[in-house]
Amino acid sequence: MKSRTKAVVIGGGIAGCSTLYHLCEEGWTDVVLIERDELTSGTTWHSAAQVTNFGMTQTMVGLKSHSIALYKKLRDDPDYPVGYHHGDGGIRLANTEGQMQGYRHFASMARGMGVDYEVIDAAECARRHPLISTENLLGGLWDGEDGDIDPAQLCQALAFHARKAGADVYRHTSVTGLTQHEDDTWTVHTDKGDIDCDVVVNACGYRVNEVGAMMGVQHPVAALEHQYFVTEDIAAISEAGHRMPLLRCPISDYYSRQEKNGLLVGFYEQDCKTWGLDGISPDFSNDLCPDDLDRVMEVLEGAFQRMPVLAEVGIKRVVNGPITYTIDGAPLVGPIPGKRNAYCIIGLRAGLGEGGGHGWLLAQQIVHGEACYDTWVIDPRRFTAHATVELTALKAIEDYQNEFRFHFPHEHRPAGRPAKTTPLTPVLAAERADFTVVNGWERVDYLKPNPDFHFTPSFGFDETFDLVAAEVRNLAEHVGLTEVNGFNRIEITGRDAHWFLDRMICGTVQKREGRVGLGYLLNHHGTIKCEATIANLPASHRGPGRIWYGSAAASEYHDMDWLTANIGPDEDVHLRSLTNDQTILVLAGPKARAVLSDCARGDWSREAFPWLSVRECHIGFAPATVMGVSFSGELAYEIHVPNASLYAAYLALRAAGEAHGLKLFGARAVESMRMEKGFLHWKADLLTEFDPFETALDRFVKLDKGEFVGRRALLGRQKDEPNKRLVTLAIDTQRFPAHPGASLMQGNRVIGTVTSGHWGHRVGMNLAYAFVEPEYAETGQQMVLDLCGEHTAAEVIEKSPYDPNFSRMRA
Ligand SMILES: Cc1cc2nc3c(=O)[nH]c(=O)nc-3n(C[C@H](O)[C@H](O)[C@H](O)COP(=O)(O)OP(=O)(O)OC[C@H]3O[C@@H](n4cnc5c(N)ncnc54)[C@H](O)[C@@H]3O)c2cc1C
Repeated sequence: MKSRTKAVVIGGGIAGCSTLYHLCEEGWTDVVLIERDELTSGTTWHSAAQVTNFGMTQTMVGLKSHSIALYKKLRDDPDYPVGYHHGDGGIRLANTEGQMQGYRHFASMARGMGVDYEVIDAAECARRHPLISTENLLGGLWDGEDGDIDPAQLCQALAFHARKAGADVYRHTSVTGLTQHEDDTWTVHTDKGDIDCDVVVNACGYRVNEVGAMMGVQHPVAALEHQYFVTEDIAAISEAGHRMPLLRCPISDYYSRQEKNGLLVGFYEQDCKTWGLDGISPDFSNDLCPDDLDRVMEVLEGAFQRMPVLAEVGIKRVVNGPITYTIDGAPLVGPIPGKRNAYCIIGLRAGLGEGGGHGWLLAQQIVHGEACYDTWVIDPRRFTAHATVELTALKAIEDYQNEFRFHFPHEHRPAGRPAKTTPLTPVLAAERADFTVVNGWERVDYLKPNPDFHFTPSFGFDETFDLVAAEVRNLAEHVGLTEVNGFNRIEITGRDAHWFLDRMICGTVQKREGRVGLGYLLNHHGTIKCEATIANLPASHRGPGRIWYGSAAASEYHDMDWLTANIGPDEDVHLRSLTNDQTILVLAGPKARAVLSDCARGDWSREAFPWLSVRECHIGFAPATVMGVSFSGELAYEIHVPNASLYAAYLALRAAGEAHGLKLFGARAVESMRMEKGFLHWKADLLTEFDPFETALDRFVKLDKGEFVGRRALLGRQKDEPNKRLVTLAIDTQRFPAHPGASLMQGNRVIGTVTSGHWGHRVGMNLAYAFVEPEYAETGQQMVLDLCGEHTAAEVIEKSPYDPNFSRMRA
């Protein structure tokens, strides 16, 4: 065994083999894979190995398309051909109009990735899959690329090509420990000796937390038992003259594909079972859990009704094996939070279909620092401290029980809630707040008119429309109050704090005490990494002069990792997270100044405390830090309060607000208002795929200020035409908001993709942001938006249709 290599990939299932192969493809050939047994002896060997092209975001579609292209290449490779049935096609069934609407949206989204899904009616489903009945069926989504692959051959082929490129594969070698050194390199300890390396990758399937524990990490991954059976031959299949397409059923929670001349049918039973949470026998390898078909009887009945032929045919083989899930169903592929030079590719529940693509995106991140797509939907840092294995198990069960039922917009399922709360959560609930979830935090979504009010999550405008309109109206005419919890807050101190930020931010960094500024951090490719508010707090009895770096709640681990990784060896910079200690109360509207003046001592006049100021004060008697910033476009204050004083500050604001018409508002009202102002959301509109010029943030870039992270790459990008440009669109429909991913068309050609959409209640317009080809980015350009299958006129308008001179927020 080698004593040194560049990267060690631990685990020889599809995740590890794909990572090894793609590291070689990206140019790292001095790499090693370590597998405790034979390749594929974890979950991979017994997988049903269906390879589908369906994804709910463009990143997922893109990576799955990569899997398919790669598998076709391997199938056709004479050196090491892989058994792959490509193009059997597949149908996702639907029995509600809501599901059909969703499928039409996903078809619009996938078109932007060059993938054609087809939404078909029930009769067409039955024509393409002659074994199904159309009872209780509306139709489905057809994906012509679906198929299945031989999992063992696939992994062997990936390992074969990696070896040919220079990689080593050590089988029957267990990783027993990991040691990280001061220079951030690693020693991987195995039962056959040690290997030093720069980078380690955890690809250990259901043993993820055994290896995680070796580096002091517990990953939010839980395994469940999952079963399928294979039938005897079915005459109708042998006689059909074509292979049966794959089937996925959200009505009865099963899938099927053809296996030889029979069917393979797998189940997602409600009575499901976690596996291995309290430890896994070291001997469990190439192994299965005991069959338990009793558990799946209910689902089986649904499958029998849809495919009556199943009732007439014998079962040849049952497979019950562990399958891994995360909190939101998508895997964890990328840097391990809080660690340097450590990555994971874990929590894969559809690893054969997705594994080719995940290994590709991970290898790009390891070798180049960033992948070709924005990978936030699979980034391990999207879950933070609430993501215990216990919570993951609850969400995993819920997700498994809803395997083929996609989330509708604004749908947050109940398991594992509430995960993160503040002292105000029950108070706001008593005020009839309904909550959305942001990085585990329960955040006010809108206020219910009565305790029994419910909305039906849908792709159309829902029952909350008028309620949100009223919240916006009150705020724009009087004043509104809401809680923004979990907002990421990092305190930056040290001699070089400002110099450090100057190096990290691509524009002017506000350095004056008592002032606040907005800045963008780029990666080494010159595209957008983070967005931050920088507030300079003067020295006071609360502490010395310090900087507060504020960013989106979801970015808590992401931004901390990025800042930490970039502190120079000689820089005196100290970072401290305040995220879980402080909460923001946002006071917004023309009467916000009056409310603040009535409950906080001091001069809050425009002259004494202009827009973009920061000051420490008391709200009533509660200590607070107030910033004059606005995401609504109205005069507004962010009031940062330690959680222990939050309720006191809230009571003081409510009392002062009574005389000024203060009412609560929620996140949906914020969405509506920020879209009217042209304000962007991190990871919706601010993506690693685009630079700040493409994102219409020119005024936040200062190329001549000296070196900053990403400057050279950004200058390089300037030499080429921009790829796309972000625009604001007015959409000519009152039926649907524009959904992220929806395609914009000129004729049959996709020329852009929506990133955000919401009704603008103050301007009375249906608004969207989208990245479009530069020639269509001028104001007045007309195009067509494919919105849930309906073709709707869209027009580029000014970026900020409400109060374009920003006079209201500066009032
Ligand atoms: C019944 C069933 C049906 C499925 N059907 C499909 C399907 O149709 N389509 C699809 O896409 N997906 C399907 N899946 C899911 C898919 O099989 C998995 O997502 C995939 O196999 C996971 O691969 P992996 O590489 O992450 O994990 P694994 O295959 O479990 O590989 C992990 C490897 O790490 C090794 N390892 C662990 N610890 C150590 C250590 N300390 N040192 C060295 N090596 C170690 C293990 O021995 C193992 O080989 C199915 C799963 C099940 C259970």
